[in-house]
Amino acid sequence: MRVIVIGAGAIGCSVAYHLAKEGATVTVVDPEGLRAGATLTSFAWLNCHDKKPEDYYRLVMRGNLAHRELGEEIGHANWLRLTGALEWWPADTQKAKDHSVRLNRLRSYGHPIEILNADDVISLEPDVSRSSLEGCEAVFYPTDASVDTVVYRHVLMREAERRGTRLIEARVHNLLERSGRIVGVRLDNRSELEADYVINCAGCAINTVGAELGHAVPLEWKPGMTVITDVSRNNVSRIMKAPEIYIKPERAGRLLLHAKSADLTLKDITAFDAGEAGARQIAALVENVLPTVGGVKITAIRISVRPYPADGMPVFGPLPGIEGYHVAVTHSGISLSPLIGQAAVEEILYGRTSKDFELFRPTRFSHSAPSAT
Ligand SMILES: Cc1cc2nc3c(=O)[nH]c(=O)nc-3n(C[C@H](O)[C@H](O)[C@H](O)COP(=O)(O)OP(=O)(O)OC[C@H]3O[C@@H](n4cnc5c(N)ncnc54)[C@H](O)[C@@H]3O)c2cc1C
Repeated sequence: MRVIVIGAGAIGCSVAYHLAKEGATVTVVDPEGLRAGATLTSFAWLNCHDKKPEDYYRLVMRGNLAHRELGEEIGHANWLRLTGALEWWPADTQKAKDHSVRLNRLRSYGHPIEILNADDVISLEPDVSRSSLEGCEAVFYPTDASVDTVVYRHVLMREAERRGTRLIEARVHNLLERSGRIVGVRLDNRSELEADYVINCAGCAINTVGAELGHAVPLEWKPGMTVITDVSRNNVSRIMKAPEIYIKPERAGRLLLHAKSADLTLKDITAFDAGEAGARQIAALVENVLPTVGGVKITAIRISVRPYPADGMPVFGPLPGIEGYHVAVTHSGISLSPLIGQAAVEEILYGRTSKDFELFRPTRFSHSAPSAT
């Protein structure tokens, strides 16, 4: 079967790899190659702490485990860090009560959580300043992991290409339709590519393709940013979520940093100085937690709009009345990408319904949808 995958983010690359592994002839189309999208900006933390209801929590948990299985299948999971993660927050506040409700919910699902004191945190991460832990409650999530998304999508694409996949650097302009069936795509340069099936994995741009079909996935506009630091003296080895900043070790002594307050500075993401104010905030916040990285230099600011369906839940599946076409768009897409690849094989190649995504169909937006966080 010939399949066109629109978009080469984490989801498109995973779909391409899984389909190619099962013998499909795959063409991936993305104007930016492997260089863009929410996948590049992502914090890429494999966790499921805020996922509810339980069906959604279980789905994301399976996605996180599927990264390990994918690593074993490919032979070397060099995009994964299986280190667990740390989180701490001020005790005796309304937020602490919210955290307690969240931890109780996670425990009721059987999720492993270890309660730590300041000494425990510092023994795991010796660079963390004692003052940043003062008056805080802290936990360790042993099953959490993190993904290097640059490595992840290159590995998936390399493995897909070894099985005959082509990556074309072009933008899909519209779908080709014949008698209610999608039979290919037209590119911006007017050339046409034919296929037996098309899957749209264009992230936050998903509705820019296929608008003529009269279906759109309602998305929220949620821009986000991360920054990368220069090489610095640090011993950070796992993801840490301190009260105002998210810290993740990258290769060669770099840190990838994220703060919700910095996202709020993103009013116009196309402005020439977009992200600069947020980057300054992040640089100040990280020094409170990790004084040893003093004078941190930001070398890259990454900004993108999260692919965020309006009810916060994944969207995967065909559209009603249209043959030969699937859509796949979700937040937590790094976590879920291996499962979406597997589901694409089930549904597109074998015509079976994916158990993982039967609750998360695009058709739900024509009815009242459950809300989620
Ligand atoms: C700040 C931030 C933090 C995040 N943290 C996490 C986290 O901790 N854990 C987690 O699991 N997820 C996280 N996410 C979400 C996650 O990154 C996304 O869900 C995931 O990257 C989505 O992947 P995707 O392949 O759907 O989309 P993208 O990575 O956006 O890829 C879509 C691709 O489609 C291409 N495209 C667009 N239009 C067209 C067209 N017309 N033709 C062809 N190609 C097209 C684009 O160029 C792009 O490369 C975070 C996101 C952000 C922004």
